[in-house]
Amino acid sequence: MKLSEVTLSHHYADLGDAFGTRIDPTPFEHPGLIHVNPAVLQLLGIDAAESKNPDWAQLGCGKKLFKGSRPFAMKYTGHQFGVYNPELGDGRALLLGEIENAGRRWELHLKGAGKTPYSRFGDGRAVLRSTIREYLAGEALTGLGINSTRALCIVGSDEPVTREQIESGAMLIRVAETHVRFGHFEYFFYTKQLEALHKLIEFVCQRFLPEVTGLSVSEQAEALLRFTTRKSAELVAGWQSVGFAHGVLNTDNMSIIGDTFDYGPYGFLDDYEPAFICNHSDHTGRYAFEQQPGVVLWNLNALAHALSAFVSTEALRDCLEEFQPRLVDGYAARMRRKLGLEMEEDGDQALCASLLQLLADGQADYTLFFRALAHYRGERPAAALRELVAPAQHGALEQWLDRYDQRLAHEDSDSRARNRAMLGANPKYVLRNHYAQKVIDAAEQGDHRPLQTMVLLLQNPFDEHPDHETWAAAPPESGKHMPVSCSS
Ligand code: AMP
Ligand code: MG
Ligand code: MG
Repeated sequence: MKLSEVTLSHHYADLGDAFGTRIDPTPFEHPGLIHVNPAVLQLLGIDAAESKNPDWAQLGCGKKLFKGSRPFAMKYTGHQFGVYNPELGDGRALLLGEIENAGRRWELHLKGAGKTPYSRFGDGRAVLRSTIREYLAGEALTGLGINSTRALCIVGSDEPVTREQIESGAMLIRVAETHVRFGHFEYFFYTKQLEALHKLIEFVCQRFLPEVTGLSVSEQAEALLRFTTRKSAELVAGWQSVGFAHGVLNTDNMSIIGDTFDYGPYGFLDDYEPAFICNHSDHTGRYAFEQQPGVVLWNLNALAHALSAFVSTEALRDCLEEFQPRLVDGYAARMRRKLGLEMEEDGDQALCASLLQLLADGQADYTLFFRALAHYRGERPAAALRELVAPAQHGALEQWLDRYDQRLAHEDSDSRARNRAMLGANPKYVLRNHYAQKVIDAAEQGDHRPLQTMVLLLQNPFDEHPDHETWAAAPPESGKHMPVSCSS
């Protein structure tokens, strides 16, 4: 499809005025195209050659609208740091409409598009820094096989936007199969708009659970909670296995289909540090890396509460009880792949746990250690692994490797095949904040080449890229624990 042929439809906005507000974007006066994502073009069925179309600069900042656009700010609420906030909604982003391709529907959401009725004290804008961070993170998680929203394009501007400092404004078009969050359900529940809540449940079920269409609202709501519980458990299993911390797991940042959603002060682990807090403003560590499973379950409870208008407490509890086994199984399966274990044995979980303890005690880089383990063939001393672990833990490392060798002996595969499989499960490249910042610094100087390089690495994180070894290295000590603020 040519860019000029893209025509948007509006199933969400068509749900009615209770769901949000029709409002046009406030475009930039002088937009400059920064990047178009070829992978997302393909997802949408737009010709690859269209990445060169100059119209993106206008389309990506609302100066020109796609055919049939009817921009719409969605209303939602949610729990932020455990406290209910009734004042939320699309305060700086607009749903432009959706595109259907290959049997899937993709919503386009323009972020940074100006004030809406839900902006509160905000300026409706996003800065280049946060826009690039969101774009990179979507590619990083997708590349690692973890569900995420993605970005279609980024447009920059000369418009000053005030955060801790003055920065420049930018917009991105976020792409997802739905932008419905837990907070959408909470809004209708807490404002007692049960008809609209019913409509929303039907809307999401029609799209993602066609098998329950025609059933009663309580059956649909129950099926939805079960679905979201499973998807969220799988999502958090993915995050924990790659060392990703979201940073702001408020219920308004939780996608109903289990996408990683709304990127702010996220971080990938450098050293394996379970208590890692990436969000500078998270003083209590509510959203620390190791807290994520518990907090996602907390959020699912908030969603369940909103659905209690239609579903009995017993049925809600029954759905939520699926969370833990799904999480445990999902995480175990991912960690088994990382360890190269094809068979399932009773002691596997303990073997994995003792390795993680060793990595924590030995201040080892999480990604580099597992990547090095993917090259391990039983050699002693295991120099490449030793190098990554503090000397005080070298003895513990040798002991763990003895156990690992014994466990590997039960496997059928030879070490060559195992290494190959492990290289496909242990990325060489993750999006470390230190390198994200380098990409941002260059972009702020008008150099977008590092951004392009980083996107390519993140889209193919398991491959070797000999020209870009430096981007795989652990950051210097000063580049770890970069404080990332919520302001974006
Ligand atoms: P977040 O912290 O990104 O999850 O956003 C929380 C709420 O603040 C949402 O309702 C956003 O729409 C709103 N918001 C965040 N940044 C801005 C901004 N710059 N202008 C207006 N609203 C904003
Ligand atoms: Mg948000
Ligand atoms: Mg946000």
